[in-house]
Amino acid sequence: MKPEDRQAAEAARGFMPPDEGLALHAAAVAALTAVGSAPMLEIGSYCGKSALYLGSAARDAGRVLFALDHHRGSEENQAGWEHHDADLVDPDLDLLDTLATFRSTIHEVGLERVVVALVGHSEVVAPVWGSMLALLFIDGGHGSEPAHRDYELWTPHVAPGGTLAIHDVFPDPNDGGRPPYEIYLRAIESGEFVETGHTGSLRLLRRV
Ligand code: SAH
Ligand code: MG
Repeated sequence: MKPEDRQAAEAARGFMPPDEGLALHAAAVAALTAVGSAPMLEIGSYCGKSALYLGSAARDAGRVLFALDHHRGSEENQAGWEHHDADLVDPDLDLLDTLATFRSTIHEVGLERVVVALVGHSEVVAPVWGSMLALLFIDGGHGSEPAHRDYELWTPHVAPGGTLAIHDVFPDPNDGGRPPYEIYLRAIESGEFVETGHTGSLRLLRRV
């Protein structure tokens, strides 16, 4: 990853630490090599941090990243919760709106032709999605229902040899919520995915 991309990634708001971001970037480079022509998709873009790591890999490979988010934030981003950022509230609507910040992030690093924002709910987009994916990154709603729904609706689109990346996987309940860990287990138990690596809470799996 180029130093200027990395700097921008670190400056962008988001929850992904640099070591996990670089691991995600490396996984994207490998997945784009393993699976010819297919794009990548991330569920949960927030302010664009993970999209920079994935997007710079897409740019270098001449491919595309779809960045899917309704941009209203997850439960933990709402007022009164741990990950709330009052600067991201649209004052007219009194609703969180991360789309403008996301667009600035992507613009600043010149990835507008590479990172395609899909503004909508993941469960609305999934049923009409038609393309196989070289890499799917699941980092959207972390509650039980949204996490399991994303697993069920989106993992069938991962191409054979492609990569499933899941963020915020915490085997120890003291470290964080269960649903991302549960869907990681489902992927392993399905026999359709094998683990290829992990960095912090980022788990990488390959579709067999
Ligand atoms: N991947 C980002 C962080 C994502 S935070 C990074 O590392 O930089 C989780 C995001 O998921 C939030 O922006 C929230 O709006 C989005 N989200 C939650 N549920 C969603 C759903 N059902 N459809 C689309 N986006 C969703
Ligand atoms: Mg996350």
